[in-house]
Amino acid sequence: KATTPSDLEIARAVTLRPIEEIAASAGIPADALELYGRYKAKIDVERLPPADQLGRVVLVSAISPTPAGEGKSTLTVGLADSLARAGRRTMVALREPSLGPILGLKGGATGGGRSQVLPMEDINLHFTGDFHAITSANNALCALIDNHVFHGNELGIDPRRVTFRRVMDMNDRALREIVVGLGGPTQGVPRQDGFDITVASEVMAVFCLAKDATDLADRLARITIGYTYSRKPVTVADLGAEGVMAMLLKDAIKPNLVQTIAGTPALIHGGPFANIAHGCNSVIATTTARRLAEIVVTEAGFGADLGAEKFVDIKARSADVAPSVVVLVTTVRALKMHGGVPKDCLAEPDADALARGMPNLARHVATVRRFGLEPVVAVNRFSSDSTEELDTVLAWCSRAGVRAAVADVWGRGGGGDGGDELAREVLAALEAPGQCRQLYPLALPVDEKIRTIVRDVYGGADVEFSDLARRQLAQIEENGWGGLPVCMAKTQYSFTDDATQLGAPEGFTVHVRELWPRTGAGFIVAVTGALMTMPGLPAHPAALRMRLDDDGRPVGLF
Ligand code: ADP
Repeated sequence: KATTPSDLEIARAVTLRPIEEIAASAGIPADALELYGRYKAKIDVERLPPADQLGRVVLVSAISPTPAGEGKSTLTVGLADSLARAGRRTMVALREPSLGPILGLKGGATGGGRSQVLPMEDINLHFTGDFHAITSANNALCALIDNHVFHGNELGIDPRRVTFRRVMDMNDRALREIVVGLGGPTQGVPRQDGFDITVASEVMAVFCLAKDATDLADRLARITIGYTYSRKPVTVADLGAEGVMAMLLKDAIKPNLVQTIAGTPALIHGGPFANIAHGCNSVIATTTARRLAEIVVTEAGFGADLGAEKFVDIKARSADVAPSVVVLVTTVRALKMHGGVPKDCLAEPDADALARGMPNLARHVATVRRFGLEPVVAVNRFSSDSTEELDTVLAWCSRAGVRAAVADVWGRGGGGDGGDELAREVLAALEAPGQCRQLYPLALPVDEKIRTIVRDVYGGADVEFSDLARRQLAQIEENGWGGLPVCMAKTQYSFTDDATQLGAPEGFTVHVRELWPRTGAGFIVAVTGALMTMPGLPAHPAALRMRLDDDGRPVGLF
């Protein structure tokens, strides 16, 4: 029996088209293209012709994910290919993968099966150097902070209250907490510091929310790096570092063009964390795609309680990217897991567990409708799914009046016929698109914003603030940051702040431990539960199965 080919094997069998051809098909003039080899290019947005109409945004989100991943990226790519196959000018907008998780567990983050963006080896490994540039801009600021403190500390920065940390694109737990400046008076001023992974950097969040180069520099200038001895916030502007940071990002802010397996143009740009940041690709890429295509298919991280909420309340509040339709990716396996089936028994049919898992999907559907948007449920088909189980999900959706389709874009590809039905449902939904509205007004106090999200999106009863969080709420008001939206840092596996509470629990309290002002990105992070801003590697990292083959090609990316 033939074994299923790996994502990498499928990717390698595809004959890529030169990126100039893909650009031409998307209406990108040759002089707006900056080539990075034969299959990647950056787009100089300034050189694009004016758009007479902006494309509509289809946001791909999901039910509460299980540890396996629900296939959101796969569905995003597959749906775009299906829409292109249906004759619509379509573009994909996705996040750039982070190297740390690739070397750890994930092995790659460019979709899967017959729905991938290519060249997957390049996109997964360094790509066009954007993460390097973001890391450099972040660390230039760190060097300037410590240098300022060393040379007399005119601003009076309290070294114990520097909140801005160094970053690198690696899972390296040994660097979470470190001491810098050791070695005597000529080596700097000792203080406790630490590294985060690059995707957790506020520079990444700023990069992804900036509308253009000017907005980028303005937002960088507003980043709070710490506090003075008298507890006054210190910003990048106080240090005068926004100029060099913006300079280091001058090429990175141009969106990267690649192609899907079926040759649909894809912009892959930026990749902020989905917990302490908003978890979607850059505003610049999404708006560029809107200028070029009739339909833009884009993805938000985690489930709709986190990803779609942040897309609407953070990204679409500050930029013109409001979605018209939200696709909720679900799998029979994940619904069974929400119905109480353990991870290693998900291949066995279990109608009761499936029914018990449905309320999770139902709550996400309600959330999407609360945003004024029309949900379309996409059941991502796995080979272990039985026809009865797939029909059960479709029947539930039909009773709930929700558009739904089974998609096999992983197995058959969106360029094949694997996503035709889903594309039909999405196109029908686009005929009567919703009117996107935010969940809360910015004028609401920060604690009330958090309560609104917990009650209206998570289905919880209340919020409990730690003593520290309560003090921080007062400081946030005092410093004039109370009008910022909230970015919830919560486990993606549950509506609650406890990752083991699957399904759709009710009556729970969410515990806010800490609040982190991200004044450059323009949101307040509400930290619930344990939070990792520098992941570690697992006992058997994917990295140890990676190498180059005899022809110098990567092996071991999934
Ligand atoms: P997410 O974006 O939700 O994290 P991905 O699209 O990255 O998920 O998919 C996670 C993994 O699951 C990938 O390795 C992908 O190949 C695999 N996968 C996705 N859909 C299917 C499917 N229908 N059948 C089998 N494997 C799948």
